[in-house]
Amino acid sequence: MNFREPLTLFAIILFSIGLSGCLNWAARAVNKLPNETALDKSYKYEGKIIIIGAGASGLAAAKIMEQNNIDYQILEATNRYGGRLKKDTSFADFPIDIGAEWLHSAPVSLNKLKGKKGLEVDEDLIPYHLSNTASWDGKKYTITPKWINNFIYNFMPESKFKNTTWYDFVDENIAKTVKHKIQFNAPVSKIDYSGQKVIVTTRNGNIYTADRVLLTVSIGILKSEDITFTPEISNERRIAIESINFHQGFKMALKFSEKFYPDAINCIVEKGEKVYYDIAFKKNAQTHVLGFLCTGDKTNEYYSLNSNQKIVDSLLEELDQMFQGKASEFYLGEYLIENWGQHEFTQGTWTTAFEEKKSTLKVLSQPLDNKVYFAGEIFDTYQQMGVPGAILSGYFTADKILTD
Ligand SMILES: Cc1cc2nc3c(=O)[nH]c(=O)nc-3n(C[C@H](O)[C@H](O)[C@H](O)COP(=O)(O)OP(=O)(O)OC[C@H]3O[C@@H](n4cnc5c(N)ncnc54)[C@H](O)[C@@H]3O)c2cc1C
Repeated sequence: MNFREPLTLFAIILFSIGLSGCLNWAARAVNKLPNETALDKSYKYEGKIIIIGAGASGLAAAKIMEQNNIDYQILEATNRYGGRLKKDTSFADFPIDIGAEWLHSAPVSLNKLKGKKGLEVDEDLIPYHLSNTASWDGKKYTITPKWINNFIYNFMPESKFKNTTWYDFVDENIAKTVKHKIQFNAPVSKIDYSGQKVIVTTRNGNIYTADRVLLTVSIGILKSEDITFTPEISNERRIAIESINFHQGFKMALKFSEKFYPDAINCIVEKGEKVYYDIAFKKNAQTHVLGFLCTGDKTNEYYSLNSNQKIVDSLLEELDQMFQGKASEFYLGEYLIENWGQHEFTQGTWTTAFEEKKSTLKVLSQPLDNKVYFAGEIFDTYQQMGVPGAILSGYFTADKILTD
């Protein structure tokens, strides 16, 4: 492999994107963190607030309301909280992040998310420094030299939670104090902000009234127009919503009796990403679990198989080509799948706000008549991406709602 070849370098960059799920800046992102968040301030507000969505951003905003004794309620479409944060504890002998998994930023950013001062981090983290990786172009399996893995890690020092998950972090530090305010199975279908109060209606016809509403659903839900607005949102905002990149995709885990695979295998694809990776990497685990993350164009090929078992068969076939039949030999017949792209209340995987036009983000982040506000990963004011971006947007918008 000649690493001076532009294509090879491009493949390396794709590789790093594939592993992280997003473009990188890692440690540099810490410099963009705000000096203080709404957690460090106090607020007085007499009105009633409704938060729509109990994902990372909605829960974070709720934490501010709770801390300041504000009258609020959370309406969540599903029967659980966390949104795209989800953990599985039944598949293996360690908890698996079946949604968000990596901390793209430096560990100390966790302190900002939970309002802890100083540089000492409480969480036990695994530095995601891989030493044994490869790439696959559909025919050729190429082992990545160690210096490239070192280069990637130095450029993008990511981490994973050692014995816990992203879900646990948010559960312990944010959800714990606000979960009693969640109304589950309450999918919002209408938001009427034409009067002095905002009227929110759920699909089952329940009506809620508030002075201000915070909408934290994914951009996929806004694209689907499952929620109608009265008055209708502007054409400019509709175009902005449409223009945001929100890839289809899914995550899978396969269980094997032997670990025949390296830390990660990046599959070269034109658009999106396709990566196999050792989910148990440096975890306290005996189980051998290989993860598979697919977003973008390739996703439709798997969706067109119309069966999870057929997706598994297709992955095993590909792995058999790479490892001379070892995948089928060691497969224990157990898999886990979370199809975020086709999940009714997610409809995609993740957005990368910093890749979008600033003007688009500005249009999106404007509240509707200072009554309906928006938060979530795409409203990532401090360029943190993913979960940290979503949490900080919750704090940021809570501050706006309470001070506007
Ligand atoms: C496979 C995958 C891997 C990822 N990997 C990483 C990673 O490694 N690191 C990282 O930082 N980030 C990662 N992300 C992104 C991260 O998960 C998200 O950025 C973050 O969780 C988004 O939080 P949110 O609150 O903005 O949105 P969501 O989590 O989508 O929360 C929105 C909530 O609104 C609810 N809702 C939707 N519609 C309605 C409605 N009509 N009425 C009421 N409620 C509704 C939903 O059920 C959900 O609970 C990943 C995402 C996926 C899918």
